[in-house]
Formats: sequence, C-alpha cells, structure tokens
Amino acid sequence: MTVSVALFTSDLRVHDNPVLRAAVDDAEAVVPLFVRDEGIHRTGFDAPNRRAFLADCLADVDAGLRRRGGRLVVREGAVVAAARDLVVETGARSLHIAGGVSGYAMRREERLRRELAAVGCTLRVHDAVVTALPPGRVVPAGRDHFAVFTPYFRRWEAEGVRGTLDAPRTVRLPEGVRSGPLPERTRVTGVSPGLARGGESTGRRLLSSWLRGPLADYGTGQDDLAGDATSRLSPYLHFGCVSAAETVGRARQRGGPGADAFVRQLAWRDFHHQVLAARPDAAWEDYRTRHDHWRPGEDEAEAWRAGRTGYPLVDAAMRQLAYEGWMHNRGRMLVASFLTKTLYVDWRVGARHFLDLLVDGDLANNQLNWQWMAGTGTDTRPNRVLNPVVQGKRFDPRGTYVRRWVPELEDLADGEIHEPWKLSGPRRSALDYPEPLVDLAEARARFERARGLG
Ligand code: FAD
Repeated sequence: MTVSVALFTSDLRVHDNPVLRAAVDDAEAVVPLFVRDEGIHRTGFDAPNRRAFLADCLADVDAGLRRRGGRLVVREGAVVAAARDLVVETGARSLHIAGGVSGYAMRREERLRRELAAVGCTLRVHDAVVTALPPGRVVPAGRDHFAVFTPYFRRWEAEGVRGTLDAPRTVRLPEGVRSGPLPERTRVTGVSPGLARGGESTGRRLLSSWLRGPLADYGTGQDDLAGDATSRLSPYLHFGCVSAAETVGRARQRGGPGADAFVRQLAWRDFHHQVLAARPDAAWEDYRTRHDHWRPGEDEAEAWRAGRTGYPLVDAAMRQLAYEGWMHNRGRMLVASFLTKTLYVDWRVGARHFLDLLVDGDLANNQLNWQWMAGTGTDTRPNRVLNPVVQGKRFDPRGTYVRRWVPELEDLADGEIHEPWKLSGPRRSALDYPEPLVDLAEARARFERARGLG
C-alpha cells in the first residue's frame, strides 16, 4: 500500500487544504501528522493563549479527520526528526507541507528536504495554503518583493486567488500508526480569561455569519472601537482553521464596499508575508533603519504593559489585550505608536509583549505591523504620531470602549473620558487612575529631535 504524510503546520483544517488534499490524492493511505515541536518551546513562541487555542484547533482537526475515517497522529519532539521517523515507520514516499515564510519555516523546509531524501521520500511544498497569494507570486520588476502596499495591492487584486478545494471525502490511515495524546486546553495555565475558542468548526461558523451579515458594514465600522465590528477571524487565519484564499474568494462573491474593504485587509496580511519571506531578518531587525537610539524606558514600558499610562484609550486597549488575548486593530495602532513614538521605546519591546499575549500573534503580521507603526518598516509616512486624545475622540467618541475596559473612569461624562486629568477638585482626587505618564507635546518634540526632524 502506498503511503503519504500530510504534515500540518499553520493549516489546521480539512476544508480547502491543498496539503491534505494532495497527500490524500497521492497515495492509498495518508498519515495526517502534527508534531508538537520542541523548537517552538525554545523560541518562547508557544505563549499560553496560542497554546490553548492550538489545543482546540488540533482537537477539531482530529474530529474532522475521524468523520472521514482517519484521525490526527500527534508526535512530540523536533519536527524534522519526528517526521523522518514516521516516514521510515510507514514507508511513506511523499510528505506534504505548506510553504512558510519565517526563517524558522524555511530552515525546517530545507532540513526536511535533505533528511527525507536520505530515506527515499519526496518533500512536496504547497503554495497559497497560509496566504491567499503565495509570496513571490506578484513582484515589481527586478525586485524580489514589494516594499510599498499600494502598488502591491493593485497587482494582488488583479491576480485571482486559486479555487476552493473540498474537504477529502475519506481519509484512510495505514494500520498501526502510534499517536501521542492530543494536548488539552484545560491543562494550559496563564490563559487570558476571555480567550476565544479555537478550531475549524468555530472558525467556519464565524466566517459564514460574518459574510452573511456584518461584512456589509465593514467599510464604515472597521475603526469603531466600541462597535467591535471587525471579523475577529485573525486567530483562525493565523492557525489556518479558515483558509485565506477561501475567505477572499467568498468575500469577493458577496461584493460591495464592505467586502472590498475587508479583502484589502486580507491583502495586508499577504503583503507582510511577502516582505518577511524576502527579508526574514525583518522579524527582529529594522526593515529600514531610522538610526534610532531608543530609550530604555523600562518603567514606562511596564506601565504601558499594565494599562496604566494615564491615557484612557491606550490603557483600555492594553487591558483588552490582557483579558482577551486579542486587540482591535485601531487599538493596536495606537498603543504601538504610543510606545515607539510617544515613549520612544524600541518596537521590539512592544512586539515581544504582543507575541506573549496575542492569540493571532505571528511574525509576519506582528513584527511588520510594529515596524510600520515605529516608522522602521514599510510606512511611507514613517514619522506620523497618533495622539491618544484625538484618536479617542474620533474612534470612541462616547467613551464606550474606554468604560468597558477602564472601569475606574466609568462615571466620567463623554466629553471628559479621554482627558481625565482635566477634572478638578474632589472629582479629580477621588479618581483612582494614574496621571499621564508623559506630556504629549514634550514627547512629540523628543521624538522629532531623535529623528532629526528640525
Ligand atoms: P479584520 O479587520 O476583520 O480584518 C480581516 C483580516 O485581515 C484579519 O483577520 C487579518 O488576518 C487581516 N488584517 C487586518 N489588518 C491587518 C494588518 N494591518 N496587517 C495584516 N493583516 C491584517 N494581525 C495578526 O493577524 N497577527 C498579529 O500578530 C498582528 N499584530 C499586529 C500588531 C500591530 C502593532 C498592529 C498595528 C497590527 C497587528 N495585526 C496583527 C493586524 C491587525 O491588527 C489584526 O489582524 C486585526 O486587528 C485582527 O482583527 P480582525 O480579524 O477582526 O480583523
């Protein structure tokens, strides 16, 4: 009997999964494999929120495979060695995997290719599994990636996404393949209390209900912090519970201004992936140096992490992150601008904290969005600074989002809530809320001096 292996990575789904489909079509029996990778532990990348969400995802993939006659085989250890051992045990002739973009994924791919070749097994790497368009599919003349989003988006839009693949009808496992236990969400400690449930079933339900209803208003509501009117699909896309290509295809079918705006955001996701694929060092090095000499600012960074900067919108967003392991995009932009430009603290400090908590935290989107906000990335206006008061009045005009996350301020009037330091007398002294960490005008002048802006 011929055997193939489908090695799951960031594609934890049975629907529209080119890796699983190709592995099923390639042989009489298939081993769907997930390796709990020791390498990830060492990089500190397995933050509790993502570990808990991953446990849901694996349980759900296993259930999906069982409905089709198979199951998920879980092994523990170094991924390349575990995959090679399984190939040797089962005599598999091919192993299928999704193409990745990080340095880690690329090294894994190289080592797999080498080690599998030595045992007579072919590595097949599949495109457009993690992203809608594979990195490198559209490139500017003479360059390996786009450094500016708008021209990238024009080309990305003109290029159709691949068609959606059905889930395989049956998955036949070879006899006697040993599997370790699935990880359990309840065993993970340090998880955010409001963390979403992971998995393909939840992700697909969310996608369908999003496309049927709220998508239509996305263009007008995407920045409304209190309205919470974005899809919240990011963790499902990160773990591959829903397919980026299918999501783009289905949104386009819906059409309308909401769908156009949503598809544009999905293109940002692809954009950052193609930057990281071409420049893996951009995960931790400035993509474009601005010759910054960042301040250490340890105490200030700690106040920022704790949601106690004295700027209500910044604090609200940071507390949402701690509670849910997720933050609204408008909040992410503001708190990143605040840390890197207002406090002038290194973007890596903020990116690290986000990676410790975000359920959707990934190298491409997190690091490159941080760099974008810090002005060391692909932003064509690298020195813009977001003002938390102005942002508050614009994107949370009634203070609803602030009241939700900063209960100390819940009795303040709409007009007061973004500037509590303006209260006077007993109302001010009764407030159990910090004074602003920095003066915004002074901080801005400091940043402009540091960047040599006159
Ligand atoms: P929606 O508004 O519904 O958008 C749909 C999808 O488009 C998202 O799920 C996401 O996959 C993609 N998307 C939207 N905005 C962006 C963007 N700016 N860049 C890349 N993709 C985008 N996103 C992550 O997935 N992982 C991260 O680690 C991450 N870190 C970020 C850090 C900072 C400092 C900033 C400013 C943004 C970061 N983002 C990250 C991008 C964005 O904030 C989230 O994708 C979005 O808030 C997720 O919510 P949603 O699914 O409701 O998004």
